[in-house]
Amino acid sequence: MNTSKSKSAFEDAKRYIPGGVNSPVRAFANVGMNPLFIDKAAGSKIYDIDGNEYIDYVGSWGPMLLGHAFSPVVEAVREAACGSTSFGAPCISETRLAKCICETVSCVDVVRMVNSGTEATMSAIRLARGYTGRNLIIKFEGCYHGHSDSLLIKAGSGALTFGSASSAGVVEELAKYTLVLPYNDFDAVEDAFKKFGEEIAAVIIEPVAGNMGVVKPADGFLLKIRELTREYKSVFIVDEVMTGFRVSPSGAVGLFGIEPDIITFGKIIGGGLPVGAYGGKREIMEFISPLGPVYQAGTLSGNPLAMAAGLAQLTYLRENPQIYDLLEESGAYLEAGFNEAAKTAGADVCINRVGSMMSVFFTKERVEDFDTANTSDTEKFKIYFKSMLNSGIYLAPSQFEAVFLSAAHSRSDLDKTIEAAFKAMKAIQ
Ligand SMILES: *Cc1c(COP(=O)(O)O)cnc(C)c1O
Repeated sequence: MNTSKSKSAFEDAKRYIPGGVNSPVRAFANVGMNPLFIDKAAGSKIYDIDGNEYIDYVGSWGPMLLGHAFSPVVEAVREAACGSTSFGAPCISETRLAKCICETVSCVDVVRMVNSGTEATMSAIRLARGYTGRNLIIKFEGCYHGHSDSLLIKAGSGALTFGSASSAGVVEELAKYTLVLPYNDFDAVEDAFKKFGEEIAAVIIEPVAGNMGVVKPADGFLLKIRELTREYKSVFIVDEVMTGFRVSPSGAVGLFGIEPDIITFGKIIGGGLPVGAYGGKREIMEFISPLGPVYQAGTLSGNPLAMAAGLAQLTYLRENPQIYDLLEESGAYLEAGFNEAAKTAGADVCINRVGSMMSVFFTKERVEDFDTANTSDTEKFKIYFKSMLNSGIYLAPSQFEAVFLSAAHSRSDLDKTIEAAFKAMKAIQ
């Protein structure tokens, strides 16, 4: 496969952009390769600037649930752009998208639009602190909630010690206000509340983790957090930036029947444009400005192009709920195919899947949290990744990301992918 144009484009990019990319995982550093530069994409296919075609399982890291260049979304954006790309004033499409989210996700009374998932979770944390008058937050190891300071925190040494910054530039004094607990550890959450309950402003969690690879919540884990946050009057924030409108029509909260106080959204709700949102109980949400004392604003928030794209995508999903059955079917088919391929090739894998998100971990262990995710052999992943790419399968260039299926992936796409997986898993042995 010739990727010489991508290679030279990367050299050019590095002269003007730090590391040549605008988001680090895109650099392919984890797989020791040069990134592909993308020319265009349509449906389930993505094309690099050398003209190679791939079946795309990145889907822009989640938003492209209906496939690339989905015509209702493209048309909506085209039409909106003709009426100006931004107003900085209220427009009706903001209310329409908000209404659509509120009607689809029952625990969202009102919702505020922002421009990214990071902004949504950052604002939700500030709101929880402002609403409760408390400082501490709990997050879980391996969950990613964007790159705001309070959330770029890793576990401290030992159980129930406060976190430390996982990035240079994050003030350690701030890191101390974030407790990082193991995912799916009931006792750790209970202990944290016993010890610090009255000081905990919020618990934030990925209801299905997707940023340490896919990890499912243990039965009752989310409900346990709901109980404890209710008892101690802490705000329960479910981060559905990845799972919202993906794992069910009403996201993970719908799938697992939980009622958080605040939900954060992003990715799918923008149809591929930069959108995030946070919403939930009116009583809490009305603590944000202009009604309340918690400040949050945005020059481009509620941007008419972004609202049009999101509305077109969510409207289509609402009118075609069978898409979720199709996604589950495709997901199950792919999972079975991969398991079969691994078995035949004699590769040890653990495959975790919830609907249209899935991860293949190269380990004998059952992956249930950050520690078990880290038992996977990333050297094997590198070989696997490279082999898949050579077979025309574009995966996220990291062991700790998800495979995202879209409604545009055909049975023949899946069959090609399974065949490629068989070859890749043989290459590992
Ligand atoms: C992607 C993601 C974010 C961050 O969203 P950005 O739009 O990249 O800022 C936050 N939380 C979760 C669960 C995510 O998957």
